[in-house]
Amino acid sequence: MRITNISNTFNFNQSRILYNKKNSYNNYTENPSAKNIELKDTLRYPINFTSQKRIFSSANKKLAEREGNFLLLKMKDIPCPACGKKMLTKAQFDEISDELSNAQPDEYLNIIGKYTDYMRPIEESVYNELRDLSEITFDPDGNKITDIRTLLVILRNSKLPLLQDMQMKLLNKMVSLARTLPISEKIPLLNKIKVLKSEVRKKNATAPFRRKIMLDRISKVKIRNIHSYNKLQKIARAFPTSLDMNSAWIVKYSGKNKYNEDWASYDIALRFLSSSTSNTDHILAYSIENNHDDISNYMAMHNACNSIKSNKPFLQWLYEDKENRIKFLTDYFQKCSDLINNKIIKKKKYKNYVASATQTVYNVSQGIVDLRNIADCKNTDGTQAI
Ligand SMILES: [Zn+2]
Repeated sequence: MRITNISNTFNFNQSRILYNKKNSYNNYTENPSAKNIELKDTLRYPINFTSQKRIFSSANKKLAEREGNFLLLKMKDIPCPACGKKMLTKAQFDEISDELSNAQPDEYLNIIGKYTDYMRPIEESVYNELRDLSEITFDPDGNKITDIRTLLVILRNSKLPLLQDMQMKLLNKMVSLARTLPISEKIPLLNKIKVLKSEVRKKNATAPFRRKIMLDRISKVKIRNIHSYNKLQKIARAFPTSLDMNSAWIVKYSGKNKYNEDWASYDIALRFLSSSTSNTDHILAYSIENNHDDISNYMAMHNACNSIKSNKPFLQWLYEDKENRIKFLTDYFQKCSDLINNKIIKKKKYKNYVASATQTVYNVSQGIVDLRNIADCKNTDGTQAI
């Protein structure tokens, strides 16, 4: 009970204070470390916040996290606020894993095909390509090929050159940037780019298809000029990733895993659905505003959509696909509200989840996302939220 009380009494006021500073996110720069410093500097807490902050002891944080997960990750068939497709619960995902482990590899494609409603748009489009290919691809005995790995390897041949081309263009942009730097910074950066280029050209390379590795390497390059550093980061972040690009997905899973072994069909089949399983997301990015570990700051989101959202400020994330995301957020909260009102989620203390989380979204978006029409969006004390 204490958690919901906290969210009603002061957490909203706090986010209002934080987000009334309208321009704070507009000043957001491309340099992640600069962003943190800037947010800390611009979003100063009110003086009396220090005492309230103690309410969130680490024990309470853990409790809030566990109970938040408990509620949200049990909700069935709610749409993802990022992409609008339905999310699988962990329990559903476990059932599918069991189903796959009891099946033959040539049955995997059929099994995962039952869950396309839950797949994110990327996974669904890859699935459709595999399905189409299997209709026209036959083994020497004249049977249709349905093995996922085999089909992916066939698709790789056409996707790999596209991906390599994109990566080379980005690396060449980095070269142009490097040429503007002082010699002490230019040489190490050009050397790093040279290594990356040779990796991109390798047919079986895995690292270039993993944007995280690319970002890690680039972030180690020392550049004093903040403008150039930001530019470099921006290029590095444009690298294709399997999280949001169809051809990068295909190249990644038709290649080697981190143990330098071929991805197995079973693991690939699971990957279609593990990225579409629900996870808890912090509305106010946890790493930036780490005092908002509270149910009022939680949404459920696809695993992979959550990875893409990462620590982005809410408004930045929203504006990447504003119209759709406002609709998806509304659908998400409406569905949660239905489940709670129909007592499918029975725990009383979660009754004001929708009211409290919609309030946070409303505050964070400064009213751009207006969820006042969500049915019965009320707090437990009967007052209308927002
Ligand atoms: Zn999603």
